[in-house]
Amino acid sequence: MFADLHTHTRFSDGTYTPEELATHARRVGLGAIALTDHDTVEGCPRMAKACAHEGLEFVAGTELTAEQDGSEVHILGYFLRIEHPRLRAEMRRFQQVRQSRIGAMAERLQTLGVSLTAEQVFTVAQCDSPGRPHVARALVESGVCRSPDEAFDRFLKQGRPAWVPKCRVAAAAAIALIHEAGGVASLAHPGLLRRDELIPALADLGLDGLECFHSRHTRGQTQRYEEIANECRLLITGGSDCHGLSKGRPLIGTVKLSHHHFERLRDHALTARRHPSLTASP
Ligand code: AMP
Ligand code: FE
Ligand code: FE
Ligand code: ZN
Repeated sequence: MFADLHTHTRFSDGTYTPEELATHARRVGLGAIALTDHDTVEGCPRMAKACAHEGLEFVAGTELTAEQDGSEVHILGYFLRIEHPRLRAEMRRFQQVRQSRIGAMAERLQTLGVSLTAEQVFTVAQCDSPGRPHVARALVESGVCRSPDEAFDRFLKQGRPAWVPKCRVAAAAAIALIHEAGGVASLAHPGLLRRDELIPALADLGLDGLECFHSRHTRGQTQRYEEIANECRLLITGGSDCHGLSKGRPLIGTVKLSHHHFERLRDHALTARRHPSLTASP
């Protein structure tokens, strides 16, 4: 039994519905799947039902955009109580920031002579947690760019003219929020972050896990992060970061976390709930 603990649906910037994702997950032979849409848990109830239908174990999760020492870090939360009031309130706030950022990016594009409105992006996004991939798709739909990649390269990448920074919470606050909502926190794709020196600091802040397995990690990176996880006493997590068809072929099934690592994570979540002080952040 294998798990994929990093996936996205249309509730953020993925292209699959929860039902499509669950069907693909079963087809590639997974036994468990976590939904980790960016800054939202809105897709979790539907994903839970779809997983039950497909006979898969479901983990309610999210991928929070946070900040540590000047870098954007993505913190995965697992086994969340999605009805937790403060989790819901904070998520609403993160989503409002994302929505106003779309407005700011549209304004930048207009000053560059590209007529794209925030409304057009929201129509493409159809979700509460819109992001740059939706801006990219809107630029393709309106004929400004030929591909989302071109949109990122010309306008949306960091340093390009329509790039607007995201207001980010401190990593410590993101980890504390996940714990408060009964969950466990793992640092997403450290191989893309490329700031390994932050990992011990995040571990001291209460981080529970490290995403050693990821579709964009080389075998060497995976090994290195497994070593760092052991040194920092972090649990090992992994997932494909499948966004459906938005980045070429669907990545679901390309990263399979062993049942052993998955069970350790689940046991840790259950133990932490019984003994909240174990995950209390300083
Ligand atoms: P945002 O959260 O709005 O900053 O958008 C980040 C998302 O954009 C990531 O989760 C990726 O899915 C996607 N992304 C980031 N960089 C690129 C790129 N160069 N080309 C295509 N997609 C990208
Ligand atoms: Fe994404
Ligand atoms: Fe990410
Ligand atoms: Zn992701």
